[in-house]
Amino acid sequence: MKGVIFDLDGVLVSTDEFHYRGWARLATEEGIPFTREDNHRQRGVSRMESLEILLKKSPKSYSGEQRLEMATRKNAYYVECLQNLTLADTLPGAREILVALRAAGIKLAVGSSSRNTPLIMEKTDLFRYFDAVADGNDITRSKPDPEVFLLAARRLGLPPEECVVVEDAEAGVEAARRAGMRVVGVGPAELGPCDLRVRNIGELTADAQTLHAGVVTFSVGGSQPDPRSVALLSAMLLQPESINSVVLPEKDLSALGQRLDSGIIYLYS
Ligand SMILES: [Mg+2]
Repeated sequence: MKGVIFDLDGVLVSTDEFHYRGWARLATEEGIPFTREDNHRQRGVSRMESLEILLKKSPKSYSGEQRLEMATRKNAYYVECLQNLTLADTLPGAREILVALRAAGIKLAVGSSSRNTPLIMEKTDLFRYFDAVADGNDITRSKPDPEVFLLAARRLGLPPEECVVVEDAEAGVEAARRAGMRVVGVGPAELGPCDLRVRNIGELTADAQTLHAGVVTFSVGGSQPDPRSVALLSAMLLQPESINSVVLPEKDLSALGQRLDSGIIYLYS
């Protein structure tokens, strides 16, 4: 691994709330009911598909031109909201992993289909961590086409097989695989086959060779086990082939769940 290419939205930054506000404002203007659940169904789909979800609740029919105008209007509201992004809108752990990777000598890029990438990165002060950016303004084919990741790798001066992609959407995971890159899946969504899965960017750790799924603190025995650790331990025991080594402070794995008070598990895959 010589380079890591990060998707932006949902991996490093969350703009979900801004998308919601953009759609909600459009819906209000059009007199269409719109809820958080409707918004949830819009995740990971294109702007025009998202609009269709909203329009399903309207008794009216709309021309192609009207649809295009509404999608454009929603994006204007979204971009207006993006002006309020700050450093605080990067997801927990995002800066830490970027700093760790840079310290390990890994080259970093952003690979996002969003045309708003430069604005989002500027507002959240993310440019400083990256050697290259490839975004929706540079490409003609969105994910799952591999174009954006191949361009990012080229801008890093690296062959695809030396790059790892970090993604939170199924289309992005497919794009990475089609680009011939390894892929880390982030978040709860169904993503298809990934080389490594984490629930959020904060679980990702790194060294100069590879990315790991977490340094997880846990406690078992006397105190109440941390449910996150229990879930991870179960996954580890169910899929031991994905684990190369487990480092436990108590050395003896058989003691797990019986007498360990606390410790740190390093999960390598
Ligand atoms: Mg994403």
